[in-house]
Amino acid sequence: MKKIKIIKSKEGNFFLKKRGIPIGCQHCLKGVKGVLFLNGLCQKPQHCNWYCPLSEKRRNKKISYINEIMISEKEDIIEELDKTNAKGISITGGEPLTKENLPKTIEYIEYLKNQKGETFHIHLYTNGISFSKEIAYKLAKAGLDEIRFHPPKEKWNCISKALNLDMSVGVEVPIIPNIDYINDLQKLILYLDDIGGEFINLNEFEYCFPNSKSLRQRGYELKEGSIASVQDSEIYALKLIKKISSMTKNIKIHYCSILAKDYYQLKNRYLQRAKNIKKEYEEITEEGLLLYGIIEGNEESLRELLDILINKYNISKNLIQNKRKSIELPYYILIEDPLLREINKLALNAFILETLPFQEEEYKQITEKTPIKLFKQEMNL
Ligand code: SF4
Repeated sequence: MKKIKIIKSKEGNFFLKKRGIPIGCQHCLKGVKGVLFLNGLCQKPQHCNWYCPLSEKRRNKKISYINEIMISEKEDIIEELDKTNAKGISITGGEPLTKENLPKTIEYIEYLKNQKGETFHIHLYTNGISFSKEIAYKLAKAGLDEIRFHPPKEKWNCISKALNLDMSVGVEVPIIPNIDYINDLQKLILYLDDIGGEFINLNEFEYCFPNSKSLRQRGYELKEGSIASVQDSEIYALKLIKKISSMTKNIKIHYCSILAKDYYQLKNRYLQRAKNIKKEYEEITEEGLLLYGIIEGNEESLRELLDILINKYNISKNLIQNKRKSIELPYYILIEDPLLREINKLALNAFILETLPFQEEEYKQITEKTPIKLFKQEMNL
């Protein structure tokens, strides 16, 4: 059998040369894909409930999100997609295709295609439990581009019901480092290739707070030096891909690492978002975070400093945000020694802040707050 070359990407992903990766993944890695979390309701199937990564905040809750943003109406989705320059979206949950969720899912697909145009790419995740030919028709008619199944073994045949309807059909499952599971996965890949499925995404098995207890009880450990990878998941993935690739005809086989998911995808989406929402005095870091200076302290001293900034240092008002209890301004202005002497004289405190790229207080989480002296030492300034 002809050997197929396996390519490793800079994100730590693997795929087969000449077969490539699904369009939804291409958008995702570039950070131009939004994630629509329909709600946290699902049938809690045995095959995935034990490793489900959904947090308490989302699990079983009837709350929807687009990326990190909680939404109350459809228009909120478009606003976030525009802020992140999204070229596509994934619909997930919970399970978007239960009897209760299906009408909402169809409504969102139609709405997004109407608002963003035909080329806007939509893919959807389903456990396949309530899947039928009728649901497949409805999804295809609404405009769904790609469907990703993670069914239990006894439901593998649900995948074939989505074929020949002008949608890409594939599977996305974690790589659980367990021999019996991997043997089944090999059979699933061969079955999928045989029926004309387009791809299988093999995700590095994720160890996170919601599933950590359950994973430990089953003997799965966190990989040393990692914050979310299960030990040996990547090793099993590579072994499987090497073994099976030449046994397949057309299927795309794509291994997606935790690094790609938790670092590259997020960083790239943050970079898109930061460009659109940053204020004039904020700089964008390589990670897509916002960096700026902040001065805190007594309100009267802050008023005095504001006057100094505008009238003595001629700093443009656009570069200063006066928040009464603090003043925000570009970090490169704040690190200047003459200004720092004025700040010291007024007994004010200066810091450099790094935050997530949001302007809404509930999402603009501070990732680092460094006293100015320490910042200058660290940066050799
Ligand atoms: S179907 Fe999805 S949301 Fe439901 S338990 Fe499985 S992984 Fe979690």
